[in-house]
Amino acid sequence: MITVRVPAKVNVQLGVGGLRADGFHDLANVFFAVGLFDEVTAEPVGPGEGVTLSCTGPDAASVPLDDSNLAARAARLLAAHHGLADPGVHLHIAKAIPVAGGMAGGSADGAAALVACDALWGLATPIGTLLELAAELGSDVPFALLGGVALGRGRGEILDALPVAGTFHWVFAVADGGLSTPAVFRECDRLREEAGTGSSEADVPTPDADPALLAALASGDPVALAAALTNDLQAAALSLRPSLADTLHAGTEAGAIGALVSGSGPTCAFLAKDAESAEAIAAALRTSGTCRTAHATHGPVPGAEVGAPTA
Ligand code: ATP
Repeated sequence: MITVRVPAKVNVQLGVGGLRADGFHDLANVFFAVGLFDEVTAEPVGPGEGVTLSCTGPDAASVPLDDSNLAARAARLLAAHHGLADPGVHLHIAKAIPVAGGMAGGSADGAAALVACDALWGLATPIGTLLELAAELGSDVPFALLGGVALGRGRGEILDALPVAGTFHWVFAVADGGLSTPAVFRECDRLREEAGTGSSEADVPTPDADPALLAALASGDPVALAAALTNDLQAAALSLRPSLADTLHAGTEAGAIGALVSGSGPTCAFLAKDAESAEAIAAALRTSGTCRTAHATHGPVPGAEVGAPTA
């Protein structure tokens, strides 16, 4: 039995280009791995059973346990790549990352399943191959393998690790219910059309990483990072879920030095000046009535890695 722990991500910069002919958007996506973890445990099952799944955690009821689950797809993809006709594995997901929360929880489980099955089956697949398989599963999956902080280009799947000094302290306010990532991108396009700027590749400049943000990460300065946080999907997430403005306000009132919607939302992310402040902001958010719960944590943390189960 192999257990892999895998982190959630927040996008400290999410620059969204125009809609491409293939339906995707070019992104300048600075991923940051934070200490909110799912665990995926892989265990052998009898011949002919294929890939079976179970899931526990507060959001378990929203996790599909069919062939669409990214962990199951990852196991099948790895087995097919190595010509294993009968994968014979049970995957258990201990889920702490909010589902459809803009923190790439499904992608994290896909990455964790790749690492767990690779170890269980003794395949020793090179990391370059695992990254290619991860990119086939989804744009956010390769980053969950790497962790740390990285710049993603293209759909987000072309990754370059970025230098970071020290540790940053974060708070995540978890909303009731999720937001569909494709729906948030569609709303972003709609708002651009409504504003008269256009939403196609020809209308929107190709986004690039913000030098001020990269400098803030490299220097470990939370105030500079807070000032550089940007998310081009934030207006769309707020348009679909206006109550998120109250969540952002509550965290800022409680002392956050930076606040933004995480990815496509609805989780809201707050940067704190230190660990003590992060705990105070999380406590204030929990009683604010503007979110379901809030977690104080830190990052960057490593990507998917084999370890002992914590529960
Ligand atoms: P992203 O930040 O990458 O846009 P997200 O964090 O908003 O994603 P996920 O939690 O990854 O969203 O879930 C999006 C959808 O993916 C879910 O509603 C669910 O139907 C599907 N899904 C597939 N596999 C999983 C999984 N292992 N865990 C959670 N959701 C999954």
